[in-house]
Amino acid sequence: MLKTRFTEAFGIDYPIAQGGMQWVGRAPLVAAVANAGALGFITALTQPNPEALAKEIARCRDMTDKPFGVNLTILPTITPPPYAEYRRAIIEGGVKIVETAGYKPQEHVDDFKAHDIKVIHKCTAVRHALSAERMGVDAISIDGFECAGHPGEDDIPGLILIPAAANKVKVPMLASGGFGDGRGLVAALALGADGINMGTRFCVTQEAEIPESFKQKMVENDERATDLIFRTLHNTARVMKNAVSQEVVAIEKRGGAKFEDVQHLVAGKRGLAAMEHGDTDGGIWSAGMIQGLINDIPTVKELVDRIVAEAEEIIDGRLAQMVHRYAEAAQ
Ligand code: NAD
Repeated sequence: MLKTRFTEAFGIDYPIAQGGMQWVGRAPLVAAVANAGALGFITALTQPNPEALAKEIARCRDMTDKPFGVNLTILPTITPPPYAEYRRAIIEGGVKIVETAGYKPQEHVDDFKAHDIKVIHKCTAVRHALSAERMGVDAISIDGFECAGHPGEDDIPGLILIPAAANKVKVPMLASGGFGDGRGLVAALALGADGINMGTRFCVTQEAEIPESFKQKMVENDERATDLIFRTLHNTARVMKNAVSQEVVAIEKRGGAKFEDVQHLVAGKRGLAAMEHGDTDGGIWSAGMIQGLINDIPTVKELVDRIVAEAEEIIDGRLAQMVHRYAEAAQ
């Protein structure tokens, strides 16, 4: 049994989370993750308005009796969403765990904490983790440069970022970015984390409501199949390499690009339409380097069970044997 401070604090079976994913974090996936013993998050901004989010929370509750959460991401957007109203829908929906991500979460954290909601803040730098800890969050999800979506601007991979954060952060900590199997889970625990958060890996499961073409593409892709866009705008995003991401990179490379120069290519609405049409070259799609380690499309339960079994086998088998052999040799 893989028990950690994270599983204890959040009342889940396994130290695995499925964090917020725009257009993917919907009730059927989140409920499947919860039913598999891990912790899933509905993505608030995937819902067109706070009323729809309230319905999605209720739908998820009909599908599972286990704990689940909601992600609220605060990053630059073309049309700023009414964050406070989404927050209200989360609180009034009786959600007990929230994942915040992005800039200046203080007012959200304060309100969630005032309503007895546990908050996990996802961030990409040790200084941001410490600042969130001072705000009173219950856990940190530290997101390395390998991740899909927004890795921040420091470019520190998990191998350094996770132990650097573990050296200073006192609350339980998830490692995020580049995780997808039992080896990654054991590595994260070894580096000082209390569990892992996975995005792209959960996208490529039976229950994720995205077209087969996207899942197949992520299976076929190797670890080099990502692009970093918005580098020059200081809002870096790691996305699946495709025709549109390459066009954005080319525009930025020319120098002096403004957001307006790429807006027609990167708009979330365009990405959503492309996804709904199964067109993997039609818009921007977030995916991480972990694509290189994704080779199948299992059910969520198969995936979670496999990761846990593999992690236990590594700890009890391979690693224990190394220590045992060393002890024998020393005799
Ligand atoms: P959107 O259509 O408003 O924007 C599309 C992309 O452009 C987003 O990545 C956004 O951060 C970026 N952007 C918008 N205005 C910008 C500006 N002025 N300067 C620089 N970059 C700008 O957003 P959406 O696709 O509808 O997504 C809604 C929210 O979810 C956004 O906050 C977005 O960042 C976030 N998101 C997060 C992830 C992730 O981290 N995994 C993936 C997709 C979207």
